[in-house]
Amino acid sequence: MRLENLHVDDIRSSLIAKQYSAVELVTAYLKRVHDVNGSLNAFLTVMADEALEQARALDSRISSGENAGPLLGTVIAVKDNILMKGVRTTAGSKILDTYKGAYDATVVDRLRSAGALFIGKTNLDEFGMGASTENSAYGATKNPWDPSRVAGGSSGGSAAAIATAMSCAALGTDTGGSIRQPASLCGVVGMRPTYGRVSRNGMIALSSSLDQIGPVTKTVGDAAAVFLAMAGRDSLDVTTVEKQLFIPQEILGDITGMRIGVPKEYFIEGMDPEVEKTVRKALKQLEKLGAKIQEVHMPLTPYSLAVYYITVVSEASSNLARYDGVRYGSKLPRSSTFREAYRRLRGDELGEEVKRRIILGTFSLSQGYFDRYYLQAQKVRARIKHEFTKVFDTVDCLVAPTSPTVAFALGEKFSDPLTMYLSDIFTTPASIADAPGISVPCGFVRGLPVGLQFMTAPFDEKTLFKVAHAYEQATDWHTRMAPLA
Ligand code: GLN
Repeated sequence: MRLENLHVDDIRSSLIAKQYSAVELVTAYLKRVHDVNGSLNAFLTVMADEALEQARALDSRISSGENAGPLLGTVIAVKDNILMKGVRTTAGSKILDTYKGAYDATVVDRLRSAGALFIGKTNLDEFGMGASTENSAYGATKNPWDPSRVAGGSSGGSAAAIATAMSCAALGTDTGGSIRQPASLCGVVGMRPTYGRVSRNGMIALSSSLDQIGPVTKTVGDAAAVFLAMAGRDSLDVTTVEKQLFIPQEILGDITGMRIGVPKEYFIEGMDPEVEKTVRKALKQLEKLGAKIQEVHMPLTPYSLAVYYITVVSEASSNLARYDGVRYGSKLPRSSTFREAYRRLRGDELGEEVKRRIILGTFSLSQGYFDRYYLQAQKVRARIKHEFTKVFDTVDCLVAPTSPTVAFALGEKFSDPLTMYLSDIFTTPASIADAPGISVPCGFVRGLPVGLQFMTAPFDEKTLFKVAHAYEQATDWHTRMAPLA
């Protein structure tokens, strides 16, 4: 069984045809995790016993001829800010070191009903705050193409796990780029759904108006399969909506005549010129496939990063108030006063970046500053959303780089938060506009993967997957395996 070649559909048909059992499949993935994870630190928790137990149950359902779901046997790794009942869930923070999920997130429920199996929980920047996974309280995840470099973040564990075939699919969360950017840096596919498409129930909130859960996989087809199994309205998340989805076959086929916009503002001074060259080559490839490439202008793009960071710090400062030493995770230490106990708990158990954001966010929400920061950011956000809506009058899809650079060295940006924030320059606009985006591998620079980002209008994931799939099928970047695998 060559794990790197296994995809959602062939696992399903092989299990039904009894070419191998679910137990054999899970055993093979667990062995890979055992061999590779030590050098990468992609998993925080490996659910070996649970995964084998799920596999045995699946095998008996298969032999009794029970109706198999679309994800039958898909082995999934779950980012550790998504709850699974009874399973340790840290969000990469010391403050949740001993916390166990009280219930299954809606996405976990839906994937399980579709036939998926869960292999473990993956590393992340603490509460999703970061672009390198170095902000995890449990150590950084290393890049499988070069372990002296970062895996990207915050879903770095999920991306590294897929790049080395430690799992068939993984879940990430994307607030400002945390699925797309690590996918780009690790050479895999990562997709952020439209805001409101996938339930956030059971996700540990970072920024509630931006957070979305999405798939990380080896191929676009696998990402679409996992996305379809999770998407749709959920009564436990009032921001989800019932909007038409598509069937997997609809993303196949050619893209002749598809209007693809290249926003000028996504090719900026300071980006790696080799990354730009690689992306421009990909544009030529899309043209060869019959797409009509045209330059478009989105002049508000440069404001996205500022709008994003004001929004994320403000909403995070409010969301993180719940780690009070009473309700979740670590308990208040013994101390003479409540104030001192609270100060010690949050002072000792939250990381530097988390504390920085709580302070900045509390400031931007304070009386006298609210109008100037949070409210102002929401006004600009509305304008950016409008700019996105308008551009889709003239094009069906946008294409741009996912990240201005390839994977950077561990430690390179760690002590300079502003440079780290710049990693999100091309991924925050879609987040701000509630739009979906996907990153697919499009080449290598100095031996490190480069990602190509597609974006469409909100709820047009069908076009998003279709263009990405056509591009993928015309290239072989997705078939390269990281050397550590
Ligand atoms: N890097 C961004 C941040 O630090 C994005 C994080 C995310 O999408 N969770 O906020």
